[in-house]
Order: sequence, then C-alpha cells, then structure tokens
Amino acid sequence: MSHSKILIGGQWQDAVSGQTLPVINPSTGETFGQISRGDKADVDLAVAAAQAAFDGDWGRMPAFERGRLMMRLGEAILDNFDLLTDLETADVGKPVQQSRNDVTACARYFEFYGGAADKIHGETIPYLEGYTVMTLREAHGVTGHIIPWNYPMQIIGRSIGAALTMGNACVLKPGEDASLTSLKIGELALQAGFPAGALNIVTGLGSEAGAALSAHPGIRHISFTGSTGVGTLIQKAAAENTIPVTLELGGKSPQIVFADADLDAAVPFLTNAIVQNSGQTCSAGSRLLVQRSIHDELLDKVAGGIRAMVVGPAVRNLNCGPMVNKKQLDKVNGYLAMADGPKGNNGPRIVAQSKTDDDLPKGGYYVPPTLIAGVPRDHPLAQEEIFGPVLSVIPFDDEEDAISIANGTKYGLVAGVWTKDGGRQMRMARKIEAGQVFINNYGAGGGVELPFGGVRGSGFGREKGFEALYGFSATKTIAIKHD
Ligand code: NAP
Ligand code: MG
Repeated sequence: MSHSKILIGGQWQDAVSGQTLPVINPSTGETFGQISRGDKADVDLAVAAAQAAFDGDWGRMPAFERGRLMMRLGEAILDNFDLLTDLETADVGKPVQQSRNDVTACARYFEFYGGAADKIHGETIPYLEGYTVMTLREAHGVTGHIIPWNYPMQIIGRSIGAALTMGNACVLKPGEDASLTSLKIGELALQAGFPAGALNIVTGLGSEAGAALSAHPGIRHISFTGSTGVGTLIQKAAAENTIPVTLELGGKSPQIVFADADLDAAVPFLTNAIVQNSGQTCSAGSRLLVQRSIHDELLDKVAGGIRAMVVGPAVRNLNCGPMVNKKQLDKVNGYLAMADGPKGNNGPRIVAQSKTDDDLPKGGYYVPPTLIAGVPRDHPLAQEEIFGPVLSVIPFDDEEDAISIANGTKYGLVAGVWTKDGGRQMRMARKIEAGQVFINNYGAGGGVELPFGGVRGSGFGREKGFEALYGFSATKTIAIKHD
C-alpha cells in the first residue's frame, strides 16, 4: 500500500526511519492507507527548513503578498471542497455535513487572516521631548504547531493561518489519527505559491514527533491544542527553551438554563452542543445545569431531542458518527458504565439514548448520544471531560448556586446561559470563569472572528480573531533620541 509522505522544505519525503503508521476509518475499523512515522530526525530537518525560509524568501515577503497567498490558499481549499470533505469523513469519522462545515471554516480562516496581513500596525507613542518612539510587531521566527484529531482543518486554519499571516515559518505535527487533510492543505499551500519551508508537516506519534518538536531549541513559539495532560508536558518543554506557548486544552463547559428561558429555542442548541462531532469537541456543552423548577420539563424536551437522533457511519451523514478510535470508544463506554440503566434512581441514571443505524459496520467505534440525569456535582460524570456524546444534567437553585457549579470543575473554556433577564445575563457572563460566554445561543456559528481560548485547566493564550495575530508576534519598541 502506498503511503503519504511528509513535507519538508517544499519536498515530499519519507520519514528518515522509513517507518509508517496505519490510517484507519473509524466508521468501519478498516485500514485504508499509511502515513509516514516521522520522529526527531525529521523534526530536525523540518525546523532547519523553516529557519531557512524565515531567513530567506518567506521572511522577506511584504505583508500584502503574504496576505495574497493566504487568500489563494483559502480559495484552493474551497476548490477542493468535496475532496477535503471525503478525506475527513473517511479519516476522522465525521458525518459529511460536519466535514463540510470544517472545510468552510478552514477556508474562512485563510480568508480572514489573508485580509488582515497588511493591517496589523505598530504605534507611535508620545514620550519625552526630543524622542520619537514606535512599536513594531515582529514574527517570532519558527513556530511549532501540535494539533489534535478532532477538528484538524479548523485548527490548522486558526493556528497555521494566524502564524503564517504574521510571517512565521511553521512546523506542523497533526494528530496521528487525522493527518490526511493536513497533508492535502500542505500540497495546496505549495500550489498556491507559498515558498518552500514556510509550512512543513511532520506526521507521526505524539510521543516521538510531537515531543521532539515541543523540545526543539530552534522553535521560538509553540501552539498546542489537545489534552490538559499533554499540555502540561508541552509547557515544561517550552520552559526549558524559555519560549512562549499557547495552550488550547480541554473543557467541561456548562449550558445553564434558567426557568425564564425560551426552552424550545434552547433545546436544539443544547443537544447539538453535545452531539456535534460525536461530542469530541473541546467546547462541547457537556454539562446541562437546569433550574430546579423546570428540571423535569426541560429534561423531557432534551430527552425527546436525543431520542430523535441516529448514530451511524459517517458517509450516511446522520446526526452522529463514530468515535475516532477504539481507545476513545472504550473511554466513553467506561463513563456510561458509571450510570445506572433507565430504572435506577440513586445517582446518575440514563434517561435517553439516540437510535443506532440499522446496519452498523461491525468494526466501527459507535456510541449513541446519551442523556444522564441525577449527576452529583462532584461525580466524575460532572467533573471530567468525557469527549463523547454524553450530556450530564445537574439541577441548581438560583444564580449563586449556578455560578458555583459552573465554576466548580478544573476547566474554564466556554459557557452558555439561557435567560431573558438582561441583568442576569450580564451578572452571569461576568462571574463565569471561561474564555467565551454565549447568551441565548451556543458556539456563535464557529466564530472565526471571535477570540477563543481558556482559563485554568483549559489553557491560556487566545486563538481566532485578531487576538491570535498578537500571540504569533512580539512587540519591539524603538526609541529614537533626535534633538
Ligand atoms: P492529545 O492526546 O493531547 O493529543 C494532541 C496532540 O498532541 C496530538 O497531535 C498528539 O499526537 C500530540 N501529543 C501526544 N503526546 C505528546 C507528547 N508527549 N509530546 C508532544 N505532543 C504529543 O489530545 P487528543 O486526544 O488528540 O485531543 C483531544 C483533546 O484535545 C481533548 O482534551 C480536547 O478538549 C482537546 N482540544 C482542545 C481544543 C481547544 O481549542 N481548547 C480543541 C480541540 C481539542 P498523537 O495524535 O500522535 O497522539
Ligand atoms: Mg483515521
């Protein structure tokens, strides 16, 4: 079986070791390709190629030309819409519509940042008599990007898109279970005219290629999206080289529904926020906090929404596809085993599950979206990131109680608040510890323009929007004395 090569300095090559890894379709469990298993030797070559690009054509390119290349890449992504959709659906197990959304978002990042490339300005600062002071926003140099398997195209767009826009030269390590669309985007970047070495892609294992990239003394910034545990390792490696790091980590995001909310408007958001991408979403709305007086009424409505959904093969474009791999399937099933069946009434109980498609392929990694009520606040189902389509329901009494539960996990990524009371909307938004708060909606349609990131166990640094451009550059102050 032929295998995908890695991209270094504009050339496609085998891993130095010659080793490969299987590419598995999660809907069937079948192997349908191989990727190269890059390691430290390949990362060394990639960082050197990126440095050469930064010192050469790429580093010297005017901002407006970088912007033009970014927009060309955005266009090329849209020109390859169906191909990228099919690759992601096969590789990651995303229902077709989810893959389409990801292609659209990826292209949008390159368009958004392409348009911004020549609009990031420094300042002049009033200072002492006889001085002129200005600031420049300069690229870091070579930046490392380690991304997970759950939204490969969206995270490439937001991470690589912002870093390239500021003129950094990038080395990307995609998720081991989801490298195909990254490699295709690398090919499109070369065709769009990006100079050799501006974007390098080393596929492989996190413990090999990922660890080598995060520890490499040649990188000047590392952007990591993934689990909190690996994020800690990345931060330690960055500390050894004293480089800045952006950590986009996990979450246990609450959706908080007050008694005065428009429940029928809320329900589709509540279900989608946990079923989208099989719940394998950092910002999944995985805790449903409901005011006690409407608990049973809302539970009935959400249960109806969950029961109406179907899980099955990604190509069938149902509500929910498979989990990405066997490990993730086993993990989610372990959490489901913590809840009693429908009749249990002490502690967590399963109140609704989605249907499964009639002829599920035997080797696929399926778990039906599941609604679990009666979850104590300190239970693992209320505290830990499951990363599957499992929604835990927790009742609350009043605003204060809701805030205390919302902020009562180690995470702080996103929150949703459902209420018609304007004062309460603002009080809640201010008191919730999270990087994004949505009022009477959730997710704000992907929000390429909206700064995104966490606090506490969900990480730090902001991606998306203009804020990301500041993170991928450093301010230099120049003070001139001229009298
Ligand atoms: P992960 O296991 O932490 O892996 C993320 C990336 O790090 C992968 O490319 C992985 O490679 C690599 N990696 C693993 N061990 C490494 C090491 N020792 N050194 C350097 N790199 C290493 O996370 P995941 O399971 O792929 O993704 C799920 C997690 O990502 C969830 O916690 C989710 O919340 C989080 N996430 C956060 C955001 C956000 O924006 N906040 C977005 C998406 C996902 P391999 O693929 O080879 O293991
Ligand atoms: Mg795969």
